[in-house]
Amino acid sequence: MSHYIDVIIPLPLERLFAYRVTAAEADFLEPGMRVAVPFGKSKIYTGIVHHIHQSPPLNYEVKDIELIVDELPTVTKDQLKFWEWIATYYVCSIGQVMRAALPKSLLLESETIILKNPDTEVNDDFLDDKQFLIMEALLHRPALKVKEVMDILDRKSVLPILKKMLEQEWIILQEEVYSTYKPKTVKYIFLNKRYKDEEQLKNLLDDMTRAPKQRDTVMSLFMLQTGNKLVTSKLLQDRAGVSRATIKALIDKNIFIEEEQAIDRVLDEKEQGSELFELQPAQQEALNEIREQFAAGKTTLLHGVTSSGKTEIYVRLIQEQLELGNQVLYLLPEIALTTQLISRLKHYFKHQVLVYHSRYNLNERLEVWNHVIENKEPYVIVGARSAILLPFQNVKLIIVDEEHETSFKQFDPDPRYHARDAAVVLGHMKIADVLLGSATPSLESYYNTTLGKYGLVELKERYGKVLMPEIQIIDIKDKHKRKKMKGHFSDSLIEQMQEAFKNNNQVILFQNRRGYAPILECNTCGNAPQCPNCDVSLTFHQYKKQLRCHYCGYHTIVPPECPSCSSTSLDTKGFGTQQIEEEFKELFPDLKIARMDLDTTRGKNSIEKIIEQIDTGEVHCLVGTQMLTKGLDFRNVSLVGVLSADTMLNFPDFRAHERCFHLLTQVSGRAGRTAERGKVLIQSYNPEHQILQQVSTYDYGAMFKDQLEDRYQFKYPPYQRLIRLTFKNRDYNTTLQAGQWFVNALNQIEHGVEVLGPEFPAVARVRNLYQVHVIVKMGKQHHPNTIKDYIRKVKRSFESIKGFNSVRCNVDVDCY
Ligand code: ADP
Ligand code: ZN
Ligand code: ZN
Repeated sequence: MSHYIDVIIPLPLERLFAYRVTAAEADFLEPGMRVAVPFGKSKIYTGIVHHIHQSPPLNYEVKDIELIVDELPTVTKDQLKFWEWIATYYVCSIGQVMRAALPKSLLLESETIILKNPDTEVNDDFLDDKQFLIMEALLHRPALKVKEVMDILDRKSVLPILKKMLEQEWIILQEEVYSTYKPKTVKYIFLNKRYKDEEQLKNLLDDMTRAPKQRDTVMSLFMLQTGNKLVTSKLLQDRAGVSRATIKALIDKNIFIEEEQAIDRVLDEKEQGSELFELQPAQQEALNEIREQFAAGKTTLLHGVTSSGKTEIYVRLIQEQLELGNQVLYLLPEIALTTQLISRLKHYFKHQVLVYHSRYNLNERLEVWNHVIENKEPYVIVGARSAILLPFQNVKLIIVDEEHETSFKQFDPDPRYHARDAAVVLGHMKIADVLLGSATPSLESYYNTTLGKYGLVELKERYGKVLMPEIQIIDIKDKHKRKKMKGHFSDSLIEQMQEAFKNNNQVILFQNRRGYAPILECNTCGNAPQCPNCDVSLTFHQYKKQLRCHYCGYHTIVPPECPSCSSTSLDTKGFGTQQIEEEFKELFPDLKIARMDLDTTRGKNSIEKIIEQIDTGEVHCLVGTQMLTKGLDFRNVSLVGVLSADTMLNFPDFRAHERCFHLLTQVSGRAGRTAERGKVLIQSYNPEHQILQQVSTYDYGAMFKDQLEDRYQFKYPPYQRLIRLTFKNRDYNTTLQAGQWFVNALNQIEHGVEVLGPEFPAVARVRNLYQVHVIVKMGKQHHPNTIKDYIRKVKRSFESIKGFNSVRCNVDVDCY
């Protein structure tokens, strides 16, 4: 009797592939183990055993496996089931889910590229013959493909050798450059302990009368440090108005001590004593209600206004599970912005907190993966979207924080899954409780509570009864008319800012657009320079005097004259964060401003740095894009200014209004989180717009009702399901024809299902590829799986048509 295994291969192919194994291998193998298998003419892939059986495949010649890679499964059985759900629901292959889930180093294949690890000295004496040959080849060539290693060693099974060498860190895999995330350290200045003694300090100051600068610096530090504030060199330089040299001199004299501390620790120190928070009655009540909903087996939505203490409730629930010996998954939208949250959790749960960071490099990801699969002990894993694909063993609670955030959805590449929705499904599979939390729930989740599908728990007041910030809408059309604008700032905004700074408070400015001014326009002919690869206007960046494409990264210098009519009268239109930063410097030349947007947060730890500058009071004002809205908790911000709400309102998308409500409410929530009531000014050309009115009165209910009516009327989710197909090609006509072919083919689809398109989206060409969309809309009466099967079938025929060989087609389920 022959034995076979069905293997998942990390490719966009729909089926599993059978391979022959020996009886002993069949006996040893388990689902979830990795095997290396030959594929096609000469390729080797790492696959995952799906199941073991005895029925030979009928329509192709079966091959033997190359080797067994694992001694224990790398993937759990539950995970395989979950992957299958993702592949079915989101119309992709389970191999694509596998590729998205596994850290690359678990996926060695013939095309993988290996390099010598530049950070390790390898002693030849430790190498065996084969390892020696590989290392030697890497001396002569910068990189080797795995299949080249096969040639060098003249054998096929090289993966175990490479695996060993990776573990020894002699070699590394080529990867996209991830910046590694490490707890960042900061140097702080302290007064030498001996001057705690007043007498000593007095003597010191008396001795220093002839060095007035140094004396002032000591006094400044003394003042800053009363109240146990941690003081950076930079802050002290600013306050005392001295240079680094002065401070260095004091360090050399052993009057100042400079010490490095991890930011995490610093935050811990600040939070010390807050360990045993008593929940407030409202929080306690919410917690009880959540437990009741869980007991009734319901996914629960916690709708709590900003700063209502939702996180403290999560902490209680996490603690409960950890004490029971269970595991918790805590999903967050943008992990990069969560230093604050992670240090808060670490403060409570210490080493039981695991982080799966999108900025982690391969080894760090692998470490977390291994930890998760090897350990059944209690821990809480904090991560962004992809953390949901980890091999959990014993998760009993899943928290999705800021559940309304769009970054939970993966738009490219496959699997185009929504981590929140997948979490709800995973919860059902694992029999784990699922808690969704937000100050501004998505329409879909809130709608589910009205249907009774989800439980709803509300927290209507802020922690400590701090009032919600007062929101005022400023009519900038009127301000312009009455000449009350300075640049993009109204007189009201400037006044409020002055007031805030006078009271030693900080200000946040929100402009949902990066760069300086979006567009450079010719005053004579109206021409705006376009990206040569994409159908968009280039964005003007002041610092580098560049025009950049935000879609493909193309950049060029600002032309001295209009490329189409040679006029030199070029003007900027619209504005971005960079311009606001410039204008701020003009308005408040003595104050410091920091900027948080995609351009300033690319580097290692750059976000942490900005957050720290705000926390330590080093900067007075922060200007940023929607990054600002993601759960930041600053103690000292009293004013939030929104420079223009209009672009958000006019965005061509059925969710634009809902998103605008979320963004404005969230960014407002950054104001006045402590005792004093915060203030928010929203500037707009449409002050009467219903969304702005709803934001300013905190009327989520009215927003929900209005938007839901629109969705009903125009047949959008949550009433209808949407699937979007995208076709991409270099040639305009081919792209359009491909879309049209698909629409025609889909015409046979079930009665009542609408097929719209093909249509060019607002930006019809990106990176030289044209794209068209086809939208499939179906009501609740249709069975989505039948429709999706049909789409799969049509896609298969589409892919076999010669003329469309070069057209890429992708399917995006719930594409919003
Ligand atoms: P949310 O997550 O709803 O925005 P947080 O949980 O961040 O709110 O709480 C806002 C602030 O109030 C935090 O600084 C938190 O430490 C504090 N806080 C919340 N609940 C309590 C409590 N029961 N006792 C003391 N401080 C609390
Ligand atoms: Zn011109
Ligand atoms: Zn471009």
